[in-house]
Amino acid sequence: GGGGGGGAGAGAGGGGGMAARGAGAPGGAEEAEDGSAARAMFGQGVSYTYDDVILHPGHIDFGAHEVALGGLVARGLPLRVPLVSSPMDTVTEAGMAAGMAQLGGMGFVHYNCTVEAQAAFVRAVKAHPPGFPFGPPVVGPGATLAELDDGGLPFAAVTADGQLGSRLLGLACSRDFEAVDDRHTLVEAVMTPRADLLVADAGDAEQAASLLKSSKKGKVPRVDEAGNLVAVMTREEVLRRAEFPAAGEPSLDAQGRLLCGAAVGTREGDKARVAALVEAGVDAVILDSSQGDSVFQVSMIEHIKAVHPNVKVIAGNVVTRAQARRLIDAGCDSLRVGMGSGSICTTQEVCAVGRGQATAVYHVAREARLRGIPIIADGGIQNSGHITKALALGASCVMCGSLFAGTWEAPGRFVVVDGVRVKAYRGMGSLDAMKQGSSTRYLGDKQKLQIAQGVAGTVRDKGSVRKTIPFLAQAVKQGFQDFGARSLARAHELLDDGSLRMECRSGAAQAEGGIHDMHSYQKKSW
Ligand code: 5GP
Repeated sequence: GGGGGGGAGAGAGGGGGMAARGAGAPGGAEEAEDGSAARAMFGQGVSYTYDDVILHPGHIDFGAHEVALGGLVARGLPLRVPLVSSPMDTVTEAGMAAGMAQLGGMGFVHYNCTVEAQAAFVRAVKAHPPGFPFGPPVVGPGATLAELDDGGLPFAAVTADGQLGSRLLGLACSRDFEAVDDRHTLVEAVMTPRADLLVADAGDAEQAASLLKSSKKGKVPRVDEAGNLVAVMTREEVLRRAEFPAAGEPSLDAQGRLLCGAAVGTREGDKARVAALVEAGVDAVILDSSQGDSVFQVSMIEHIKAVHPNVKVIAGNVVTRAQARRLIDAGCDSLRVGMGSGSICTTQEVCAVGRGQATAVYHVAREARLRGIPIIADGGIQNSGHITKALALGASCVMCGSLFAGTWEAPGRFVVVDGVRVKAYRGMGSLDAMKQGSSTRYLGDKQKLQIAQGVAGTVRDKGSVRKTIPFLAQAVKQGFQDFGARSLARAHELLDDGSLRMECRSGAAQAEGGIHDMHSYQKKSW
């Protein structure tokens, strides 16, 4: 247990912090033994997970709404909502990356695809005007109504080459094509042509939304000066905004475009991938490996820093101070922390290497903080409490896979299995994903026998991230209020000076902390 270590932790610097926490703290040795400082808690040779740890409450003299959650995803790259989505082929493509950035977080597009496809995801995010719904359906002039039926499209913009960014020719809405019997009819024949359309040719999403409301139209396309389609504001979007008001400002680059990250490997061929991503406007690249402390990462960091000095390099994954030191020495801007904690991950079981995630986050964050490098706690997040713990234990940002898999923004289609709507979610080290090309992460590509370090399965329909993220952010703010930190920086001060107290929960304490003694109940998170 953590009790014995408590005194040692307080001796290592708890006193001033205790007094600083104010109101009614009598101080003294006995008080210092009430719980452990993180240093004592994580210095016992025990691997702790988030569930093992419980934070003690602090003193509240501010409202939860005053908590500033913002953190760094990499040196010089702040996020208002310190949540990012994993570079996995069932989690982050362009729709998720745009969705996360619109909400103040950020997404990292996976690289289990060609360089061209990955760069196209980044370009699509960068071209998307914040506030508009992402990815309006677009067809070319040759498309038929049957094609709209196949795609289940409720409407379609028609452009010269069938893509966003090309000349807008017209707009076909369901009432234009629903009643047409011959489904071989061209969309072009039933659409409202450009000349008769109300379009927004300047301004942001707010202006397009008010144009839509004042004109009582169902859709207002936004075009650029050359008449090319940029986005479409829809009535559904305006209604959704009213239902889920934005939790904060979107994450934008210096040119006002949505932030977007991407993952790459560390092979020679990945240098061309990085160059293509930089060309597409990527803000940060993740060197994606389950064990990041390698000569390959060190030389890739040096290469990217020399050739593309403006792109942030996130190295990892690491779980120890020694691993972190080497990658920080090589010049990385951030570290991704976690080995074997992911929900789909079998690394600890298969390879016997890894670390409990709470312990890994604390130790790596401590080392990195001394060098001015933020860390991303990656994997194992099942609820808002885990996010709060990750941030309180030193992370500046949290990366989630399973939490965002199964949302509307995640790639893939929903299917109904046993009456439940589900979407696929799989580890990038699962045999399924490796067959499609992701084996470099798990070092299996040159070997005849491929060993899986992940599983493939499904997760439930979770709705849109525009619902999930604001609720998670609010729950985390309440957690921060409870343990007495108004900001992430303050939380890390309390962590370092030993005044943030905590304990290891026994098995019975964990059971008590969960729901118990109910005959029946319904668990709704929000
Ligand atoms: P989750 O949020 O689902 O618990 O974890 C997601 C994280 O698990 C990813 O960001 C990545 O670091 C890690 N991961 C993704 N796929 C695999 C895999 O197949 N095996 C292992 N060991 N880790 C994975």
